Amino acid sequence: MNAHDGFRRGAPTFACSNCGRLTRKTNNTAGSCCPECDEAAMVENGISDCDLQGEDLERAEAKIAELHKRAVAKGGVIAGVSA
Ligand SMILES: [Zn+2]
Repeated sequence: MNAHDGFRRGAPTFACSNCGRLTRKTNNTAGSCCPECDEAAMVENGISDCDLQGEDLERAEAKIAELHKRAVAKGGVIAGVSA
């Protein structure tokens, strides 16, 4: 193991708490999720925070589905979602 190869330095990998995919901590992900699940969670929060309805709600849910699909396509496992 070469400590200077840079692969692990400063950016440990961890399993996304939503899809289980091994991902790397970035400045964009605050929590314990991969970027896709993190963004999906943010959209999900927006639904309740903004009390989205009708077309806005449909758009938000489509966005979440798309992000989850993308996470699954990258190796994640989410119940009910296939890539
Ligand atoms: Zn994920």
